[in-house]
Amino acid sequence: TIKETEWIWRNGQFVRWQDATVHILATAVQFGSSVFEGIRCYDTERGPAIFRLAEHLKRLRNSARIYRMETVYSDEELTEACFALIRRNGFRHCYIRPVIMRGYGAIGMDGVGSPIETYIPAWEWGAYLGADALEKGVDVCVSSWSRAAPNTFPGMAKATGHYNNAQLIKLEAMANGFVEAIALTHDGLISEGSGQNLFAVMDGAVLTPPIDGSNLSGVTRNAVLTIAADLDVPVRECTMPRELLYCADELFFSGTAAEITPIRSVDHIAIGPGGIGPVTRRIQRRFADIVNGRSNDDHGWLTLVPPS
Ligand code: PMP
Repeated sequence: TIKETEWIWRNGQFVRWQDATVHILATAVQFGSSVFEGIRCYDTERGPAIFRLAEHLKRLRNSARIYRMETVYSDEELTEACFALIRRNGFRHCYIRPVIMRGYGAIGMDGVGSPIETYIPAWEWGAYLGADALEKGVDVCVSSWSRAAPNTFPGMAKATGHYNNAQLIKLEAMANGFVEAIALTHDGLISEGSGQNLFAVMDGAVLTPPIDGSNLSGVTRNAVLTIAADLDVPVRECTMPRELLYCADELFFSGTAAEITPIRSVDHIAIGPGGIGPVTRRIQRRFADIVNGRSNDDHGWLTLVPPS
C-alpha cells in the first residue's frame, strides 16, 4: 500500500491525490502507451536532494521519443515541477514518478489524437525489497520468463507496457517464495531483475551485462560503475551465462527503488558466504554516503531542492 500525499502535479497544475484519475478508455489504459521514471529524493543536511534528476529526465524524454510521443514540457519545466511538488507536499525525502502518457480521445490503438498527458506523483517510500534487504540481502531465483528480445519491446524505453513482462517475473518469484527474480535474455544470458540491474563480483572485479535491448540502462547502474571505478575496483560490462550466478563471489541489484541490494542466494544456492560481500558493502556505503549528502558529491549527482 501507498501513503497518500496531498498533491500531484498534472499538466502544469496541482490536483489533489484522489483527483489524479484517468479515463477507462485512455490509450494508456487500453494499450499501455505510457512512459515513466522513478526518481529518489533524499533527506540531506542541506535539504531535500534529488538523485540524478537530469539523467532521469533525459531517459524519460528518450522513452517518449522511442514511442513517438510529443512531449509537452521541457526538462526545465519538469525540474521546476518536481521542486514545487516536493515543497508543496512538505517532503524531506520521497520517490518521484513522472508519467507521460497518451490520454483519452483516440479509440484506435495507435493513440494518435489522444492528448499527451504529464503527471508527477510522489510519495514517501522506504526500502523496496523489504526492511532487512539492504543489510542482509535477498533470496532470489532465476525466472522461467525471459526478458523481451531486441527489436520487440525496446529495452531502452521505460514504458509501462514492458512491465507486464516484469510482473510475470516478479509474480512468479513471489509465488515460489522469493522476493525477486533474475531474468535471462531471449538467448539465455543474464539480463536483469524485474526492476533492477544486476551485478556480479568475481575475482575482485565488478561485472554487469551490457545494455543489449533486453534490459534498462539504469541510472543507478551507471552510478555503480562510476563508484566502483572511483574505488579502484575493476569493472567490466560483459555477457554472462546463467551459471555464473551460482559461482559469483557476490551478487547485487541496483535500482532507484532497490538502491544497492545484496543477493544472498539464487535458486537456494548461497552466494559466497551468503550475506553481504565486502565489495558490495563498499559500493553500497559509498552510494549511501553520496545520496545522503555525507560525502562529497564529486560527480554532481544531487540537485538540491531550492526553498522556493
Ligand atoms: N531495470 C528495470 C526493468 C527497471 O524498471 C529499473 C528501475 N527503473 C532498473 C533496471 C534500474 O534503473 P534505475 O537505476 O535507473 O532506477
